[in-house]
Amino acid sequence: MRSYLLTISTLTLLTLLALSALTVIIPLYIQLLATLALSAVLWLICLRPPTVYETSLLPPGAKGLALPGLIFLTPGLREPERTRVLRHEYEHQRQMRRYSPLGVALFLGWHYLGGALWARLRGRRVSFMELYNANPLERQAMAVMEDEGYLLRVRDRAPR
Ligand SMILES: [Zn+2]
Repeated sequence: MRSYLLTISTLTLLTLLALSALTVIIPLYIQLLATLALSAVLWLICLRPPTVYETSLLPPGAKGLALPGLIFLTPGLREPERTRVLRHEYEHQRQMRRYSPLGVALFLGWHYLGGALWARLRGRRVSFMELYNANPLERQAMAVMEDEGYLLRVRDRAPR
């Protein structure tokens, strides 16, 4: 299953870093403090049970998306698939709670950018899906999908 959590949090982090680099007027220590403060706020948000919404705005092919404190599902998922996708995205929430959103974003940057560069150095190309399937965070989230005893603590706001 594809989830774009990782891509989006990585892009957000890279955008923040790029903005920080471009902003020469603001002293570096203030930029670092602002980044840490934002990260801390996002981490605090992750401590609460995430709220679940359904939206048709997910990227093509994605059934779910996890952002700090939020889980988005594509509308019209039937049981038991809906619960399977929910478990997958909830596991990503737990990862952000455990490692912090910044920690997850840094790991993903290392995994995807580092993985692509490493493959390139060895003279081969690696597809996004290869890296996705090798991603330990995705493997962990896929492993809980079939776990009937997996405890979901979410606030489901989707119309049922
Ligand atoms: Zn995933």
